[in-house]
Amino acid sequence: MTTTTPALIIDSAGAGFRQGLIERRELRSDDVLIDIAYAGICHSDIHTVREEWGPCIFPIVTGHEIAGVVREIGSEVTKFAVGDHVGVGCIVDSCGECEYCTTGHENFCTKGMVGTYNARNYDGEVAQGGYSQQIVVGERHVLRIPDAIPLEVAAPLLCAGITLYTPLKRWGAGPGKQVAIIGMGGLGHMGVKIAAAMGADVTVISQTMSKEADGRAFGAIDYAATEDPTVFKKLRGRFDLIVCTVSADLPLDRYLSMVKPFGALVLVGLPEKPQSFQVFSLIMGDKVLAASNIGGIEGTQEMLDFCAEHGIAPMVEQISADEVEAAYDRVVASKVRYRFVIDTSTITPK
Ligand code: NAP
Ligand code: ZN
Repeated sequence: MTTTTPALIIDSAGAGFRQGLIERRELRSDDVLIDIAYAGICHSDIHTVREEWGPCIFPIVTGHEIAGVVREIGSEVTKFAVGDHVGVGCIVDSCGECEYCTTGHENFCTKGMVGTYNARNYDGEVAQGGYSQQIVVGERHVLRIPDAIPLEVAAPLLCAGITLYTPLKRWGAGPGKQVAIIGMGGLGHMGVKIAAAMGADVTVISQTMSKEADGRAFGAIDYAATEDPTVFKKLRGRFDLIVCTVSADLPLDRYLSMVKPFGALVLVGLPEKPQSFQVFSLIMGDKVLAASNIGGIEGTQEMLDFCAEHGIAPMVEQISADEVEAAYDRVVASKVRYRFVIDTSTITPK
């Protein structure tokens, strides 16, 4: 039997949210049916429905930061039991056999990973995301949420958390390393907390000084604002690693000037338009300009366990289904502190 569940639906380009009903597939033997408690709002949800990255499959239910409780399991599920606290992130299927899937990089599956929304499952059915009360996902793509992380704050880890954990780990954030995080929104504030927990000296580079107290409370030892144009000069050659979470057009050469020789500037924010930089900015210091895309399932579990062990979690603002439209505008205006999380029990089909 399929499951009918309340969801926040956008029917067509430019339309607002409608509280309606969607169908989830009948449980396959390896499937988990999850009662979603909270869904985080990622800026990617907004880019997608506003078609800033290309065409969107309407009607759509966004949301790839999902935290909830297992309600039912398929006959061959072994990793989860009814009542477990679980999460789902940006990936709901992958081939499981290619060189990337077998090494924990399902996000680069050669068959194509199936995204949580704006994607088609391998059977052709459109995948719908987490702004909903229930979801069905194969157990290979379900994460265990440690007891130390309350469900109320867990959801944003499933995208914002892993998206920052991956490059910070890969590029060696740790004791003795100078790390900067550009943009302190949903991703950025998790970057500050995770890099600090890894032992790095963290600096926030924001547009203004308005979030300085929060940045320091999250673990930063320094805080700078680009509204002061001298900041690039002051921080010249300072960082081993800079992770940029901004989706706007940025002067990359100026940011590269803050990287030490052999250091890296890693882009995770996704601007709409092509970006440019001078090769000179890299050559004068053998610097690396890199990018990073979410993370695989194993890495996501590792990140959740790391956050539980270090007592870190996102700072969230809980909202109801009626408030999501206004929340999108606040995210775009950089006015979120620091991730909106929808209480999905408030979705009321009308
Ligand atoms: P967010 O909460 O809106 O945070 C972005 C931050 O960037 C803002 O809080 C703001 O920080 C800064 N910012 C905004 N506009 C700016 C401008 N014009 N100039 C300079 N800085 C600006 O968004 P998010 O959810 O963290 O997502 C950030 C980006 O990462 C989005 O493009 C999203 O699609 C992308 N993303 C990528 C991945 C991946 O796998 N690579 C995964 C998830 C999301 P300050 O106020 O501190 O300046
Ligand atoms: Zn996301």
